[in-house]
Amino acid sequence: MNPFVFWNPTVLYYGQNQIEQHLVSEVKKYGSKVLLVYGGGSIKTFGLYDKVVNLLKSADITVFEFSGVEPNPRLTTVHRAIELCRQEEIDLLLAVGGGSVLDATKAIAAGVPYEGDVWDFYQTQKRPNEALPFGTILTLAATGSEMNSGGVITNWETKEKIGSSSPLTFPKFSFCDAENTFTVSREQTMYGIVDMFSHVLEAYFSHTPNTFLQERLMESVMQTIIENAQKVLDHPHDFAARETIMYCGTMALNGMISMGVQGDWATHAIEHEVSAIYDIPHGGGLAILFPNWMNYVLDAGIDRFYQLATRVFHIDSAGKSQREVAQEGILAVRRFFTSLGAPRALSDYQIGAQEIERMAEHAVRIGPIGHYKKLEREDVAAILRAAL
Ligand code: NAP
Ligand code: FE
Repeated sequence: MNPFVFWNPTVLYYGQNQIEQHLVSEVKKYGSKVLLVYGGGSIKTFGLYDKVVNLLKSADITVFEFSGVEPNPRLTTVHRAIELCRQEEIDLLLAVGGGSVLDATKAIAAGVPYEGDVWDFYQTQKRPNEALPFGTILTLAATGSEMNSGGVITNWETKEKIGSSSPLTFPKFSFCDAENTFTVSREQTMYGIVDMFSHVLEAYFSHTPNTFLQERLMESVMQTIIENAQKVLDHPHDFAARETIMYCGTMALNGMISMGVQGDWATHAIEHEVSAIYDIPHGGGLAILFPNWMNYVLDAGIDRFYQLATRVFHIDSAGKSQREVAQEGILAVRRFFTSLGAPRALSDYQIGAQEIERMAEHAVRIGPIGHYKKLEREDVAAILRAAL
């Protein structure tokens, strides 16, 4: 494995009644003026908004609100929230929502004390020197943003969607009660499952030697996702299945299963190009692109594809070549995604070939992307064409 330092300071509260017991004391560690950040209002439909506001107010915490964070959160929204934080001298941000709300909150936290435009932290190598503290209450299992320092912001004016991370943008605390995900629609649940599965695949396709335990951990997470995916889709109020899926989402991208592993991450980079222009759900883009990326890079290391096929999808290898088994593994990934109802081609979102060159060009603006196989502009364009 590669030399590594592992540090993840997020205090994680999993399970029921944790908000009631611990939210106020966590918040009070950071001050008395809180900005509640949330999205389009889903948190009001199942009582979470009232619960949180009542708890905070009854503890004499002053609650300000910023709502309307959109899926694929936008820079202009982040700018407005930064202004509000400065005006009201907010002590702590509390993100209540899915990955979009959490990611927007990370950008707000980094942007408040920064004199320049927070977009600098996304568009350039510059990173924050300080940030407001923030906590999260997760309502959608998908991104792992509740326990990582990454966030993705869309600049709608320039049609760019870019991720960034900093040691200062780990949540101070995160509350993950699977009951808060009961109302997530079938479609969003599916997108979340594809996203978390893709996070594991991004780490799994690696040439880093001596990562035997990491590979087994990743395979366990993927198998657990597969075993529980249909259950949560069929029974959205199944607490055990919802909680298992939620925990898979957290573990897929909190750094625990991938210590010392150089993952690939090209598919995420390509997906960001697509959703920057077409504003499609992240999980939908990944479901389309991942099998196409796999077909394209198969010869960069067929053994890991074979391992995925046999260990995760239990494909029988008897009498077959290594390549045949590897290809069956790719088909199994596609079949898993489509069995959940995920799209399979860009045309499912009415996306044609018009912007392929522009997306490919932008994907490699800093240099080739990916590590399993380094992809140049023409490689990215080929993957996008195959995905049409
Ligand atoms: P999301 O964009 O946060 O939410 C999608 C939709 O689900 C929203 O309309 C939201 O409605 C709704 N929703 C959330 N919780 C709900 C609930 N409990 N009941 C009913 N509806 C609910 O989805 P996401 O997949 O979590 O986040 C996607 C974003 O994260 C993308 O921008 C993606 O690029 C990014 N991402 C980040 C990371 C990371 O490490 N930080 C990793 C991968 C992807 P409301 O707006 O009304 O709440
Ligand atoms: Fe993702």
